[in-house]
Amino acid sequence: AGSGKFFVGGNWKCNGTKESISKLVSDLNGAELEADVDVVVAPPFIYIDQVKNSLTDRIEISAQNSWVGKGGAFTGEISVEQLKDIGCNWVILGHSERRHIIGEDDQFIGKKAAYSLSQNLKVIACIGEKLEEREAGKTFDVCFQQMKAFAENVPSWEDVVIAYEPVWAIGTGKVATPQQAQEVHVAVRDWLKKNVSEEVASKTRIIYGGSVNGSNCAELAKQEDIDGFLVGGASLKGPEFATIINSVT
Ligand code: PEP
Repeated sequence: AGSGKFFVGGNWKCNGTKESISKLVSDLNGAELEADVDVVVAPPFIYIDQVKNSLTDRIEISAQNSWVGKGGAFTGEISVEQLKDIGCNWVILGHSERRHIIGEDDQFIGKKAAYSLSQNLKVIACIGEKLEEREAGKTFDVCFQQMKAFAENVPSWEDVVIAYEPVWAIGTGKVATPQQAQEVHVAVRDWLKKNVSEEVASKTRIIYGGSVNGSNCAELAKQEDIDGFLVGGASLKGPEFATIINSVT
């Protein structure tokens, strides 16, 4: 880990029931968590209120998506204003499942980031290459292109955490090696230095996501430029998520 405060997010995706979420919340409430780590969980929209009302304040709440502008006649969407209203402080934007399954593009994601930040909803900005892009030697190109879309839209990086999540590692059990992750994190930091500023490059946290679990987190956390994790599957198990939070070095 680097010099910024370690950050661990749990992305629950489209999982859970009132009952399973109540169990997960109770496990998290009872877990011993390192003090010097920012912890955020992202429940499905419909359970955010339940989680907000039962989870310890030690853990902040994130949404998994938000509407691109002010709420109104946008059937099926959830607005940034509504998220703020129920006590949600973060939103995950640009997750690969939204990019590649739902079809959100860089411009749309960039606009969402701008709107969220304008309403003081902090952003976990996801980037990452697909397997064929990595194999074609395009990992940096893809990540930089996605970074550019965020950079063109965000007025300040203060409330942004970048999540590098190689698509081939998400939900596959195929974690990036610590070296593979570190290499991209350094490149993204360097991109920030050249294209935004030295200060933003050194202050912005870059977290890794993709099959992080209780067994592989410690090695990853040792890497100089890995400032935390975004965790999918393993965040659905309270004790394992606590192990990942406590892997800060
Ligand atoms: C994610 O979806 O952000 C993720 C990293 O998932 P998993 O940990 O399950 O690979």
